[in-house]
Amino acid sequence: MRRTLIAGNWKMNLDRAGSVALARAVAERSGEVPDVDLLVCPPSVYLLPVAEAVAGTRVAVGAQNMYHEPSGAYTGETSAAMLLDVGVAFVILGHSERRHILGETDADVNQKTRAALAEGLVPIVCVGELLEEREAGHTADVIRRQFHGSLADVSADEIQRSVIAYEPVWAIGTGKVATPEQAEQVHADLRSLLAERYNDRIAGSVRILYGGSVKPGNADALLAQPNIDGALVGGASLKVDDFLGIAAAGIHAA
Ligand code: PEP
Repeated sequence: MRRTLIAGNWKMNLDRAGSVALARAVAERSGEVPDVDLLVCPPSVYLLPVAEAVAGTRVAVGAQNMYHEPSGAYTGETSAAMLLDVGVAFVILGHSERRHILGETDADVNQKTRAALAEGLVPIVCVGELLEEREAGHTADVIRRQFHGSLADVSADEIQRSVIAYEPVWAIGTGKVATPEQAEQVHADLRSLLAERYNDRIAGSVRILYGGSVKPGNADALLAQPNIDGALVGGASLKVDDFLGIAAAGIHAA
């Protein structure tokens, strides 16, 4: 019922030619991973050429951020409508690098999420605890706070058009992956939060991705977990073999 989604977050990497080449390579080889949804999220200045490169293929394009206002005097920002206008369908919101390096709060993430949904973009709303929060036994509380804060006032209809990503901060770009059991526990908690806020049917329909040092070698075990519906991949999404290797694990899990 929930299609596996493998999303590549390219962060602030690659140039125009490299972005287009990588997107084309993913599209050309997408036949290797039938029934797995593929998404690439290039740097904002390369969204248009990447969207043009994959137009008409099974590869969707996502942005790594956006601003909640529709237009106006917001120097340097990009609106949801502008993203849609250049062929973008998804937007990553509340990534831990934006929360912890750039100071985004749950309230900011919530404003962006509601604006993205209102315009018709699919938000990928990221939550995840710091290492010290996990070690202090606060993971479930942090996830609950971020869930309610980031998704406040998101309607039942809207949540079904949303994706949630669990990305433990200590696992992002560090090579330290959560064990399948650690990840599954938080995914199951998130699904319970969805059921409490909405209902069981809706909770069962929302995709929850895991992110944090996902590689072809660990993707099978993660994606085999019942509540892990895909991956948000940073470093390994920059190599087509690795990205499709992770997506191939999604076929086995489906
Ligand atoms: C990410 O940036 O969302 C991420 C999970 O990065 P990495 O796969 O490199 O840990």
